[in-house]
Amino acid sequence: MPHYRPPVIALLGTGGTIAATAPSTTAVADYTVTEGVQALLSAVPEINALAELRPQQVFNVDSRCIDNAMLLQLGTAVDSLLADDAIDGIVITHGTDTLEETAYFLNLVIKSHKPVVVVGAMRPGSAMSADGPLNLYNAVLLATSPHAQGLGVLVTLNDAVHAARYVRKAHTTHVQAFSSEDAGCIGRIHNGRVMLSRGPAPCHTRDTEFSMQGLQGQHQLPWVDVLYDHQNAGLHLYRAAIEAGARGIVVAACGNGSLSTQAEEGCRLAVAQGIVCVRSSRTGAGLVSASQQDAARRLVSSNTLNPQKARILLMLALTRSTDPAAIQACFDRY
Ligand code: ASP
Repeated sequence: MPHYRPPVIALLGTGGTIAATAPSTTAVADYTVTEGVQALLSAVPEINALAELRPQQVFNVDSRCIDNAMLLQLGTAVDSLLADDAIDGIVITHGTDTLEETAYFLNLVIKSHKPVVVVGAMRPGSAMSADGPLNLYNAVLLATSPHAQGLGVLVTLNDAVHAARYVRKAHTTHVQAFSSEDAGCIGRIHNGRVMLSRGPAPCHTRDTEFSMQGLQGQHQLPWVDVLYDHQNAGLHLYRAAIEAGARGIVVAACGNGSLSTQAEEGCRLAVAQGIVCVRSSRTGAGLVSASQQDAARRLVSSNTLNPQKARILLMLALTRSTDPAAIQACFDRY
């Protein structure tokens, strides 16, 4: 008789509210990261019935503190675990503030069909009605699901399953804080059942030109700044980015990527220095359509990527080319 082997899931802790506590059960702000990944696991013993868990602490911080070096560190850890035949999937606990950036980065660089699920919580573990335990349980359940294979990096919070490509944090405090906007979430988890209604579109993981291997020897990712556009914007921010040696600038532009006069001039100065400038939108949803003038101005439009995710793709794209046309092709594809 074949011997049943439970799925083996690596559980990588990086910090965030899911690993935080506050002095009182009613506090849902002003908390600090105090718990390691082993403590998160011990708090939800039901998870052990789903899989054999291999906990690993990669770092333990609020996600606002994550920098490019930590992103590369996490990518390397994920990459080597996925290459291990003994590991069937990965769950990463993460702060929600920049979760979409990490998830999208991994979605572009990992080379495996094994499930990778990023999970967080909006309330600290010490709070009444903390959402972390069920979110974590659901994340492990999702990572053990055969239906989650080959979908790229997935994100789950509050019973919804999102594709890393589309998800964003869309509310500051609600438990229902994540949205995939026009694309919609790709499934739900309810009562111990994973229901995926469709796969994520554009290409991801094994189909991209990026990889952790390709980034080896790359101690730093190319520096990219995000500049917020608005009425009466300042040209000095563009000059500062140029002087600081930025290789790319993403403009969180108005509406459908329209640039203020100052942003237009700032991009012109930057492009003249070989800096790649991307027009994204500060609206939070929708696409920035490629403008007929983009090619003439050597500007790139961000498609449906918001500014913070456009920064991730631009950093990776800049490791391969500085040609705005080639980089536009990346934005059209990924
Ligand atoms: N401050 C937290 C973070 O690390 C917010 C959260 O996780 O919900 O992003």
